[in-house]
Amino acid sequence: AEADHSEAVVIGTGYGAAVAALRLGEKGIRTTMLEMGQLWDQPARDGKVFCSMLNPDRRAMWFKDCTEAPLETLFGLPVVNRPIQRYAGVLDKVHFQEMSVYLGRGVGGGSLVNGGMAVTPRREYFEEVLPEVDADEMYGRFFPLATKTLRVNTIRSAFLESTSWYQYARTARRHAANAGYDTQVIPNVYDFAHMEGEARGTKPKSALAGEVIYGNNHGKMSLDKTYLADALKTGNVTIRTLHHVKRIRQQPDGTYLLTVEQRDPFGKLLRTKEIGCRHLFLGAGSLGTTELLLRARDTGDLPGLSEEIGSGWGPNGNVMTARTMLGGFQQSGMPVLAIDAWRDRKVFAEIAPVPAGVETLASLYLAITKNPERGTFHYDRATDGITLDWRREQMKPSIRAVKDVFDEINRTNLTTYRADLFGIGKVFSDDFTYHPLGGCPLGRATDAFGRVKGHKNLYVTDGSLIPGSIGANPFVTITALAERNLSRITATDLNH
Ligand code: FAD
Repeated sequence: AEADHSEAVVIGTGYGAAVAALRLGEKGIRTTMLEMGQLWDQPARDGKVFCSMLNPDRRAMWFKDCTEAPLETLFGLPVVNRPIQRYAGVLDKVHFQEMSVYLGRGVGGGSLVNGGMAVTPRREYFEEVLPEVDADEMYGRFFPLATKTLRVNTIRSAFLESTSWYQYARTARRHAANAGYDTQVIPNVYDFAHMEGEARGTKPKSALAGEVIYGNNHGKMSLDKTYLADALKTGNVTIRTLHHVKRIRQQPDGTYLLTVEQRDPFGKLLRTKEIGCRHLFLGAGSLGTTELLLRARDTGDLPGLSEEIGSGWGPNGNVMTARTMLGGFQQSGMPVLAIDAWRDRKVFAEIAPVPAGVETLASLYLAITKNPERGTFHYDRATDGITLDWRREQMKPSIRAVKDVFDEINRTNLTTYRADLFGIGKVFSDDFTYHPLGGCPLGRATDAFGRVKGHKNLYVTDGSLIPGSIGANPFVTITALAERNLSRITATDLNH
């Protein structure tokens, strides 16, 4: 094994990791980022970096034999998924016993595959979920800093109100209004000026070609174009791709030693490396970070870690549902409206596209709900992986709330649920999430700034800090919280 050392290592390249790398690099700290996925910047033989949603290939998914798109069937037929070659593709679906989790893999993490919806959470709920965080400072300074650096923008209302590409959203908005529900325009990191160019035919199509979950070839300001590009510009940050961190130990001198597997994009092991550092930042996401710390605790590599590691996990109350509605065959892949039923029902439902290129007669929703249920991760010695203690019944409070809202919308508009999209006969999805949160809750597994309890110079910087729920799409909160924590950590722990 070869050994090398840098002052700081950041594991992962998602939101929390990218903030850490930029702020460390700006401080002049030599930082290495280790990312298990690929860098997505080279066109393949078809001239495109990412494959399309309707004609997926091996680029779509992380080592799967078949694509696993969230809509399993259409009109009762399993037409949506395709067999593919096993490869280091961009979207992963991790299966636990009663819950599956969608994740982005590659330089940029979830920013490569997500819907780009950039929502600052309701202050009241933020204060309820993270009482130890100074909300004045967050809303005055760190949320604005995050949205600016992420390059969040908002659709022009004249475009939203006129384009055929958002007819589906306008119709769903009208149906919600008929039932007395307000709708909000949601900011996004997709460049809406680019999207208007797509609609006029002056820019290559991406959102308007149905691209989202397997990556956007144009228009989206994913982290590789914002935080990570800024981090590389400092000259102090290096990103190593297809580097999978397996093990974390602490040396007698207090430095950390990582065991890292470097693979080729087909999964072949090229070499196993040892990489050392003084300051270690975990930004591998809710699942990745929690797995690394649980393994380290339970195998004795980091014996000081607290019993709270693995706790406080939740799916952000994610429930998908769909109604019959004429949506139009042109549907932009980037959602821009959400039904806000939070005050009365604790439901915030984004109006999602079904960008199939044909009339599917479906209006799709990803609802975010308040759900007090939490899950716990455990290390499993037999597989050297983690299990998730979460039962499907724990989704019940979420489904009850979503059903109340959409029963009312259906009743008022004389429409019905679609029962052919999440498996035959199923009206609400209750077994997958896009928003895994928690596992290393702030103030419990770590101190109030993400310093991991029990070991010095070890930090958590990603979605695993947020205890299971935030009431909105999470990446703005993950980014802003990481900004706040890094601002403290670079000022006090790394000030030399
Ligand atoms: P991630 O972004 O998950 O990044 C973790 C990174 O670490 C990944 O790149 C991973 O490959 C890498 N990694 C993991 N383990 C290791 C290891 N052991 N070694 C090396 N590297 C490792 N949120 C919103 O706010 N708005 C949306 O519109 C939205 N839509 C979504 C749509 C989809 C399809 C999905 C999947 C998610 C969506 N999300 C959305 C959620 C959002 O993307 C995530 O909340 C966010 O990416 C989490 O950020 P993170 O920093 O915690 O980790």
